[in-house]
Amino acid sequence: MTIFLITIFILLMLYFAFLYHHFSKEVSILMYHHIDYQENRYAITPDNFSKQLAALKKKGFHTISCDMLLAHITKGQKLPQKPILITFDDAYENVFIQALPLLKKYQMTAAVFVISDWVGKNNDWDSYEQKISARHMSWQQIELWSKNGMEVGSHTNSHPHLSTLKDEEIFNELSSSKMAIENRLHLPVKFLCYPYGNFDERAEMIAKKIGYQGAFSIKKEMNLRHLDPFALSRINVTPSLSVPKLLRKCLPWNKVVKLCKYKLKKIS
Ligand SMILES: [Zn+2]
Repeated sequence: MTIFLITIFILLMLYFAFLYHHFSKEVSILMYHHIDYQENRYAITPDNFSKQLAALKKKGFHTISCDMLLAHITKGQKLPQKPILITFDDAYENVFIQALPLLKKYQMTAAVFVISDWVGKNNDWDSYEQKISARHMSWQQIELWSKNGMEVGSHTNSHPHLSTLKDEEIFNELSSSKMAIENRLHLPVKFLCYPYGNFDERAEMIAKKIGYQGAFSIKKEMNLRHLDPFALSRINVTPSLSVPKLLRKCLPWNKVVKLCKYKLKKIS
C-alpha cells in the first residue's frame, strides 16, 4: 500500500513538473488602451503603468517582439525567460507621451496598433462606453515611436466590427491600413489587431491573403506553440487589476491552474 501511494505521489509530481515546464513557455500578451491621468476602465495612470513595468522587470520578465512571438509559436524558436509582449490598441497620443519614456526607462518594448484613417485626429469613432476624449498619435509621433525600437501594427482603417462587413469591405479595411502605415514608415506591417477583438473566419482568411503574419484578439486562451497566429489571446489590463494580480496572471503557476480550470470546464 505504501509503495502504491509513493508511486502515485511521484507520478503526480512528474505530471505537475511537465505541466509547469510546458506552460511556463506560454507568452502573456498585455493589452492596454490609454496611459493617462484621467483614469477609467480603459485608462491606466502613468504612475500605475510605471509600477507595473518596475514589478515585471523585478520579477524577471522580458519583453519580446511580435516577430519573436510568431517564430516561437510557429517554429518553436526559443524565447527569453518569462517572455511578455506589451500591446497598445488605437495608438493614442497619451501612449506616446506617457508610456514611451517609461518603456525606455525600463528598457522594454511594445507594439502599438494604428487606425490609419484617424491618425492625428480625435477619437470620434469611439463607441466604447465611458470613452475618453483623446487624440490619436500623429504620423510624426508614430515614426518616432518606431525609431525608438517600438513596433507598429494595423488596427484597420476605421475601427469597424469586422464580422459585420462584406468581404470586400474587410479587404479594404485591412489592406489600405497596412499600405498607409508601410508607405509612411517604410517598414513591413506584419501584424493586425482586430477592433473590439471582433473577427470571423473570413477576416482571418483575408488577413492571411493580404500578407499579415499574425493577428491579436481579446480571446482568453493560451498562447502556446502551434496556436493559430491569427487568434492571439491577450490579458486586458484595467485599473482594477492590481500589480500583484497582474503578476499572478503572467506567472507560470497561474497558467497551470488556468489550464486545469479550462480542462475541467470542458469535461463538465
Ligand atoms: Zn481598438
